[in-house]
Amino acid sequence: MFPSFSLRYARLPARLRADCLPTPVAEPRLVAFNRELAEELGFDLAAFDAGRAAEVFAGNAVPEGAEPLAMAYAGHQFGNFVPQLGDGRALLLGEVVDRRGRLRDLQLKGSGRTPFSRGGDGRAPLGPVLREYLVSEAMHALGIPTTRALAAVTSGERVFRRIPEPGAVLTRVAASHLRVGTFQYFAARRDTEAVQLLADEAIARHYPDLPGELAEGPLGERYLALLEAVVGRQADLVARWMGTGFIHGVMNTDNTSISGETIDYGPCAFMDTYDPRTVFSSIDERGRYAYLNQPVIAQWNLARFAETLLPLIDDDSERAIARATAVIEGFTERYEASWQAVMGGKLGLALQEEGDGALAQGLLDAMQAGHADFTLAFRRLADVLDGPEGEARLAALFDDREALAAWLPRWRERLAREGADESEIARRLRGTNPAVIPRNHRVEQALAAAAEEDDFAPFEALLAVITRPFEEPHGEVDYTRPPHDGEKVLRTFCGT
Ligand code: AMP
Ligand code: MG
Repeated sequence: MFPSFSLRYARLPARLRADCLPTPVAEPRLVAFNRELAEELGFDLAAFDAGRAAEVFAGNAVPEGAEPLAMAYAGHQFGNFVPQLGDGRALLLGEVVDRRGRLRDLQLKGSGRTPFSRGGDGRAPLGPVLREYLVSEAMHALGIPTTRALAAVTSGERVFRRIPEPGAVLTRVAASHLRVGTFQYFAARRDTEAVQLLADEAIARHYPDLPGELAEGPLGERYLALLEAVVGRQADLVARWMGTGFIHGVMNTDNTSISGETIDYGPCAFMDTYDPRTVFSSIDERGRYAYLNQPVIAQWNLARFAETLLPLIDDDSERAIARATAVIEGFTERYEASWQAVMGGKLGLALQEEGDGALAQGLLDAMQAGHADFTLAFRRLADVLDGPEGEARLAALFDDREALAAWLPRWRERLAREGADESEIARRLRGTNPAVIPRNHRVEQALAAAAEEDDFAPFEALLAVITRPFEEPHGEVDYTRPPHDGEKVLRTFCGT
């Protein structure tokens, strides 16, 4: 059933990892399986057997050819450096080559203790596993780079967090699990050789087209180019988060992927009412990872990445710092450009003009003043082009409409310069601004039904609509609707 493993990471020097087997669970049961992704990865679905799949995705059986290992990494958590974190409850099974020829990591999360577990139990509760499943698959459907969810199994065991909960294991697929924290682990130990190996691995897997082949030119250029490439991908990624109202919640450097994928869905959530200061995570007391801070935090994390590369960039540390600093400072411009491209798309613009950023900001300001729902406000821009009734549907989202009323003529004037007819622009808008995102109250309802009543129907129904985010959903439950006062989820718990 499994495609063959390539074991690239397992063949790197032993100090990059700890070999470790998963700890079997009492009673594995497959509760979610992503057939489409499995196909993309080259699984033989004709040979699919749910019982066998449950065993393998629970870690009770190791698939043929896999060599499970826990990756070593460090990280800045809420700004404080922790020199040793590592996979404390996750195991990399190996990499597979997907149908498009790309290497993808397969990782079990919640598969038991590892040498990096410290005091932890190595397990994951069902709720956070399903949250990661839902949100990562929604992100993918929204066109945002992300790790994917291949399978979820319940373990038949309880895990103890705030209260006892059913245990589960998630199978995660990633372009790789190289993180800023992976580099930091070795940089902190002055192991430049390992940092260089990791940098070469990152280039081979994620940035094969970088200038400066190893054989030609100074090596420093190559690693500076890697830094620049990672800066570009992170700028792009965070701009896309901002464009969907996504709040990651724990942007620690160990949760910052070198490939530019969104990784580690903990207390993440999408905003309902637009407010740039929104924070969801219960452990983020000071709002370090609030919506509006995300670009600045990404830049801060990238500066930590740059520090690990300094010895590779130039033997002269002053010069290395100067060159890396210039690249990190360049993040601001890269991000601005990405953000304007994202927001231009959300306003239905295919061309680019000088004032487009200000125009987008104008709408956001109007949304903030009118306490409008972020997702619906953008979705209903297309309605405005249908006529006055459509405009009223948009306005109904705003409790204060003054700023919106002033903004709409500016937008129409700008649309006129697109040289496209309104039906074409409306089509673009509906293909860019989703009708449904995994709203937090729906996610919580789905998680509670699964964890408390063993009822997976709400999870499945929600998954079905959020993986087609640009279609208007039909059915009894209105997944597009923001939460009522009583349904609002103000805090998401890390308790993962
Ligand atoms: P996270 O908050 O999931 O990004 O994890 C941060 C660090 O804590 C990583 O090193 C994890 O492996 C570790 N960790 C989180 N939960 C557990 C657990 N239940 N058992 C062992 N290690 C854990
Ligand atoms: Mg993490």
